Amino acid sequence: MAGEPQADCLFCKIVSGDVPATVVRETETTVAFRDINPQAPTHILVIPKVHHPDAAALAAAEPAILADVVREAGEVAREEKVDGTGYRIVFNTGSGAGQTVFHAHAHVLGGRGLQWPPG
Ligand code: C5P
Repeated sequence: MAGEPQADCLFCKIVSGDVPATVVRETETTVAFRDINPQAPTHILVIPKVHHPDAAALAAAEPAILADVVREAGEVAREEKVDGTGYRIVFNTGSGAGQTVFHAHAHVLGGRGLQWPPG
């Protein structure tokens, strides 16, 4: 069923605690943890606890939880003190765009200058 945990999903295992992560914030619907391969001084992932393959699928099925993810991204930026200088919320969607984990997640990137257009 849509949203149910998937046995082969790495981020579902982080939600359940079966795979360790450096968690910085948790709510009823979301978990935020440090990316293991940071691309900026602040690089945190915010994921919904429910499983959907990408942000658009999450928005279609459970829009309030996508809003929770984005709100939490803002809270992470505030706690990491990158909200003043600016930060980026990224949803890589599809393998051609660099998505490697097919459980919706927001990257929160900050703490350095960020180029536009992105690579
Ligand atoms: O957007 P994409 O799917 O590529 O993002 C997945 C992210 O998950 C990567 O930035 C990767 O470093 C991160 N990751 C992690 N902890 C893991 C496995 C992957 O932070 N155990």
